[in-house]
Amino acid sequence: MGKENESMRTMTQRTSNCTKSYVTLEQNVCGACGKTFDTNALLMDMRLRDTFEHHTVTGFGTCPKCQKKLDDGFILLIEIDPSKSERMPNGNIRPQDAYRTGVVIQVKREVAKNIFNTPMQDISFIDPDVTAKLQSMMPKEEKENKDEPTA
Ligand SMILES: [Zn+2]
Repeated sequence: MGKENESMRTMTQRTSNCTKSYVTLEQNVCGACGKTFDTNALLMDMRLRDTFEHHTVTGFGTCPKCQKKLDDGFILLIEIDPSKSERMPNGNIRPQDAYRTGVVIQVKREVAKNIFNTPMQDISFIDPDVTAKLQSMMPKEEKENKDEPTA
């Protein structure tokens, strides 16, 4: 009995070791933080050919973590290196052309509107000098983990 179980396990293992499959788990790249995340969608080759790796990145989206911030009323300002990012003729930067420095600033949507004097997109790319300007403008009470002074 023990021996049969052993060979069963070997067979199962061999099957799952196949690198290509006709199904794949869809992933997107987050336009804000640049991380890859699962969309929880399953993609299928319509001709059932084993064409896929385990994961397939299909495009850009917003990861659950960043989406949560947007839902909480924040916009995300993504700092980029302008010399390494490619601008479109209208000055906008597409997620795939942005070279992220890794700095992400979250600002309440209403606050951002006042700072920039214009409604901002949920996810905007900013230059490092804008980051510096913003950080100097940030009111102290916006900072997290504020300790109430006990007088
Ligand atoms: Zn994200």
